[in-house]
Amino acid sequence: MHNIINRLFPKHCISCSQQWDYLCLPCKRKLSPHPEICPYCHRASKDYATCLDCKMEKENYLEWIIIPFAYTDEVKKLILKVKYYHKKDVINFLVDRMIIALQTNQILQQNLENPAFCTLHSALISFVPSHRYRRLFVKGYNQSELLAKNLASKLSLECKQFVRKTKRTKSQAQLSRAGRLKNLKGAFSLDSKNSLNGNETILLVDDVTTTWSTLNQIAKVIKTEFPKIKIRGIVIARHMG
Ligand SMILES: [Zn+2]
Ligand SMILES: [Zn+2]
Repeated sequence: MHNIINRLFPKHCISCSQQWDYLCLPCKRKLSPHPEICPYCHRASKDYATCLDCKMEKENYLEWIIIPFAYTDEVKKLILKVKYYHKKDVINFLVDRMIIALQTNQILQQNLENPAFCTLHSALISFVPSHRYRRLFVKGYNQSELLAKNLASKLSLECKQFVRKTKRTKSQAQLSRAGRLKNLKGAFSLDSKNSLNGNETILLVDDVTTTWSTLNQIAKVIKTEFPKIKIRGIVIARHMG
């Protein structure tokens, strides 16, 4: 049956158009991780951790943001496949690569080897929510949520939404830094339906970011209420817009 479907609807690699699956092996091998940088100042930083200088800043709420892929044409096309076509095999591939990136993160490994940390911090997965209007009329579903749910089920963790998007915002890509902050002001609020005890570690998932303003703003909303919660991020790629 599978063969008949393949013959009727041959799949092509999104990169070289060879008849293959969504991405052929040689093209898969060309994918590489984004360099390890601090999410705030973008200087080189081991394990994508927020550097010591940026940690001192009051408005920086994230511990690290892992970026499994450099933003190449192939990655861009894969993300579009998730965004507009909800491709299950592509979601699986991207999430598997996210897991490899998490497994090779030394800070995370050290945390996991420390029993005190594990009992204190239960890990949860969350995602960047979309506004109800956008969910219903623009895209139909939220690709960050699709990725987060797949990741959570593979890691046997719970996936919850902790903040709601309360304001429709403009796309962040075209805005200046000041404009981005203004655009996001009051955009998210804590969702009281999901109770937190204040000691969790939350891994926020997003598909692709230009800046960290959105993730940082969500972290701010959570940490203002629960300062001890640790918030980390993982995005597929970083678009240098
Ligand atoms: Zn190819
Ligand atoms: Zn920094």
